Amino acid sequence: MLPLVAIVGRPNVGKSTLFNRLVGKKLALVDDTPGVTRDRRSGDAKLGDLRFTIMDTAGLEDADPESLAGRMRSQTEAALAECDAILFVIDARVGMTPLDGHFADIVRRSKPPVILVANKAEGKVGMAGAYESFELGLGDPVPISAEHGEGMADLYSALREVF
Ligand code: GDP
Ligand code: MG
Repeated sequence: MLPLVAIVGRPNVGKSTLFNRLVGKKLALVDDTPGVTRDRRSGDAKLGDLRFTIMDTAGLEDADPESLAGRMRSQTEAALAECDAILFVIDARVGMTPLDGHFADIVRRSKPPVILVANKAEGKVGMAGAYESFELGLGDPVPISAEHGEGMADLYSALREVF
């Protein structure tokens, strides 16, 4: 069995884009609308010589604000219970939001090792949020651009350490 890696984070940080990048196919739905991924999806991922199963998480569309936090929590916790490593994704352009903090609290309590990934870090504007994310207490952020395929060597090194 391949190791299982879960991608978690608030809507719109680029989880599905990263999933697609690692799987190499347009399997997950990517959209400008936050939370457009309808299900948890998994696929066979390849990064250098690493092979693993990657799981995309979401399913928050149509959620009424009252139940949003609860649904995110149950989705995320279900994914985390099964996996060997967690890619916790934040948006390096937007920086930290209360929702990122909410997710960070969940992954911090989880057993599998957590890799903090600062996505959308291409170009200079991308770095501010990456620095800010140190405050989450989840270690050094790995800056990447899922869309442009940047930072994949650093992501490889980070995953290599936890496998
Ligand atoms: P999800 O809700 O976390 O699954 O996020 P998506 O993968 O659906 O992406 C949300 C938006 O961010 C889309 O408009 C993507 O094109 C965009 N996006 C994803 N990755 C990057 C990136 O590396 N750089 C930039 N600038 N935008 C990105
Ligand atoms: Mg998605």
